[in-house]
Formats: sequence, structure tokens, C-alpha cells
Amino acid sequence: MSKNPVYITSEALKRQEDAIERIAAMPERPQSYHIVTYGCQMNAHDSETLAGMLEQMGMLEAKDRKEADLVLFNTCCVRENAERRALGNVTWLNELKKKNANLIIGVCGCMVQQPHMAERILKQYPFVDLAFGTHNVYELPEMLEVLLASGNRVVRLAQQENTIAEGLPVKRKNSNKAFITIMYGCNNYCSYCIVPYVRGRERSRSMDDILREAQTLLESGVKEIMLLGQNVNSYGNGGQETFPALLKALDQMGVPRIRFMTSHPKDLSDALIDAMAGGKHILNHLHLPVQSGSNEILLAMNRHYTREKYLERVYSLRQAIPNIGLTTDLIVGFPGETEAQFMDTVSLVEQVGYDAAFTFIYSAREGTAAAKLTGRLPEQETSERIGRLIRVMEESTQRTYQSMLGQQEQVLVESISKRDAAMVSGKGMRGITITFPGSSADIGQIIPVTIIQSATNTLKAQRLTEGE
Ligand code: SF4
Repeated sequence: MSKNPVYITSEALKRQEDAIERIAAMPERPQSYHIVTYGCQMNAHDSETLAGMLEQMGMLEAKDRKEADLVLFNTCCVRENAERRALGNVTWLNELKKKNANLIIGVCGCMVQQPHMAERILKQYPFVDLAFGTHNVYELPEMLEVLLASGNRVVRLAQQENTIAEGLPVKRKNSNKAFITIMYGCNNYCSYCIVPYVRGRERSRSMDDILREAQTLLESGVKEIMLLGQNVNSYGNGGQETFPALLKALDQMGVPRIRFMTSHPKDLSDALIDAMAGGKHILNHLHLPVQSGSNEILLAMNRHYTREKYLERVYSLRQAIPNIGLTTDLIVGFPGETEAQFMDTVSLVEQVGYDAAFTFIYSAREGTAAAKLTGRLPEQETSERIGRLIRVMEESTQRTYQSMLGQQEQVLVESISKRDAAMVSGKGMRGITITFPGSSADIGQIIPVTIIQSATNTLKAQRLTEGE
């Protein structure tokens, strides 16, 4: 359970509202913005909040960064690659700035929250005008106002890591599917993970605030809500405010489809499984990151469960919800990982029969416990292992797809298929992409279908005819 969040005061939030109004009235302010988002859904949702504030200042979204007056990079630092890519793209923006001296460049998010990276950005990227960490998102209006008034770069890196800012404007990317962040931060300190250092300690929003937001979304016609948190299973403020209770309340409210992520296996309680099994609207999909199938590696990762405990949770889930789809995250090449330990992961993947997995090569993150470990594997070996794991995973996906042939599904249609204009595409209840014949009139509708064919990463379906 999370501890004592500190709510950003109404005075601080009012200062932002006032800054928004003043910027909106400035004749010389930026007219357009473009946000580039890296990383997870939490970051995607932060970007929706940043966009919400910028739109209230009167700015419009530019589809291309080349056309924007203000470009913000909302960064991720979970893997070195993501950081490198973000920094490479920021460097490239300097070329745009040479052509347009008024261009405002901002870098924010998890990468900036690391003091050594913030320092590096300040030293090596003098053309960056605005840099702020994950705990300063709500202060964008104030920071921008200072920058516009003074022309001096603005840097904010709050170290108070247990804050929650309620009531910020949000510009949602999708009118049919919406994110709701229910908790922030993480207390788990998995040995490879930088998140607790850049997102702070766990703190949960109040259930009333979450339900109010969900009700507003429901009334605006949203069909699917994704509850977000680094470890939603440990959501709670004591007493009645638990994650199973929150799920039940949302289910009773009648939100058509409810998903959530991410779930830590150690906190997957029987009460949560019961809430999922008993809910009418809670989708039969769970993303349950296992990371490794080896008990020695799980211990070194500080994951607080064993292979056996994880498999027992999977068994309980499948007993309660037989057609549940499971997805996971896997790390290959954790320091010291032997071939036998890697094969434990392979065998676990085969045993569980996941629908899909995100597979990653271990990436050392400065400041984490695992970064100090010896026994790093050569790149050739990790690449070879991840290739083998991906092939095993693909076979698992195909087994899932084959088992679904002839089954009925409900698809929330998101778009016209990119490959065939006579087909529409959306996500089924297990989170799998499903395409079937349709038109733009289907977008935003939940349509019952029968699965008729499997492809590499999608299922093909036909509409259910009446009486089926
Ligand atoms: S549970 Fe572990 S992997 Fe997930 S955010 Fe927390 S520390 Fe990182």
C-alpha cells in the first residue's frame, strides 16, 4: 500500500492557471507545439497532460516537429537505447533552431529526472530552453512564462517525490480509449530498474478522484479505460481503498471495458483475481511481467517471487478466468545469467503459453543495484539468446491464435486497417489486434466478431451475423 501523498496545493495550481491565461494573451507566444513521447503509457499520459496545458494557452498541435514553435521531448530512461535515441533526436533539433531562432526546445520526463543526465543536457545541449523532471510536469505554464519573459533557459528538477497534482487539463489522444493514472511511483526497487529513482515513492490517488474522472469519461462516450500505475496491484490508501475495491466500483459504474497495467506478480492477490473474475466489464487480459524463469536470477533481480509462486498465480488466474490472455516482460542477459538459467526462462514461456511478450536485453542503469554486478554477458551472446527467446515466444503466440479460431470476440474498433481500406482494426478483449471487414462508421464501436484466421501479429475475423 502506498503512503501519504502530498497534494500540490490549490495555490500552486492556481498559479499555473494564471500563467496559462497570461501566456494565452501574449501576442508573441508560440502558436503550435509538438510532443515526442518515449517509453511507457505513464509517459504517454503525462504527454496528454502537457498537451492539455499547451492547448489551454491557445497552442495547436503540429503534426510534424518541423512545423512547431515549441517541441517537447518527454523522455524515458529505462534502457540506454531509449536515452540515446532521445538525445540523438534532440541534437537534430538544433538544426531546426538554426533556421528558426524562436523555436523553443524542451526536454522532460524520466531521463531528465536523473541528476547526471540533467547536468549533461545543460552542458552539452545549450540550445535546450526548457528542462524539467517527472515531478515538475504540472509547472509547465510557470516555466514557460519565465522563459518567454526572460529568454533565459529554465530548469526545474523537484526532489520531493511523493506529490500528486489533481485537476490538470488533459488532451486525450483517443476519444474512445482513455488512460487514468491511479497511482504514481514504485517502492519495489527491482535491482535492474531505474523507475523508483525517477518516479518517486508509491502514492495513490483517492478513489473518489479516480471515480469522478471515470464518470466524466463515461459521460463523454469513452468505451475503454486503462488504469495506469507502476504497480497497480498495490494501489491503496488504507481502509476500503484497495485495487480490487476500485475495480469493482468501476465495474458497477458501467465503464464498458476496463484494463489495467502494470501488475507485480507478488501483489496479485486472490481478492484481485476474484474482482477480475466477477466483473462484467473487466477485460480478460493481464500483463504480468515475470522477467526471468530462473529462481537465482529472480532473487538477484529482487523480484520477491519464485518461478513456482508465479506459476501458482497463473494457475489460480486460469482456474478463475479460463480464457484469460496473459502477456509479460522478459529480460535476457541479466549479469551472470547462465545458459541453464536462460533455458529456465524459455521453459517458463512454454509452460505459461503467453499471448505475447516484450523481450529486452538487460541494460545497466547508473544508480541501480544491478549496475554494480559483475558478469555482464557479451553482446553476441545476449543477441543470440534474445533471438531464440523471440522464436519461442512467436510459437506461443501462434498457439494462442490457433486456439482462438472459431471463438467469438468483442472488438473496440480503432481505425481503418493500414493494409486494406475495406477492413477495420481494433483490439479484442485479450488485447490482441483483430481486423475484419468494415468502414469508418465502425470506429469507436464495440463489435462482436468470430475469429476465422490467424496472421503473424493479428487475428482476422468476420462480423457475427444475427442469431449467432
Ligand atoms: S516493480 Fe520493479 S520493474 Fe516495475 S517499476 Fe517498480 S522497480 Fe521497476
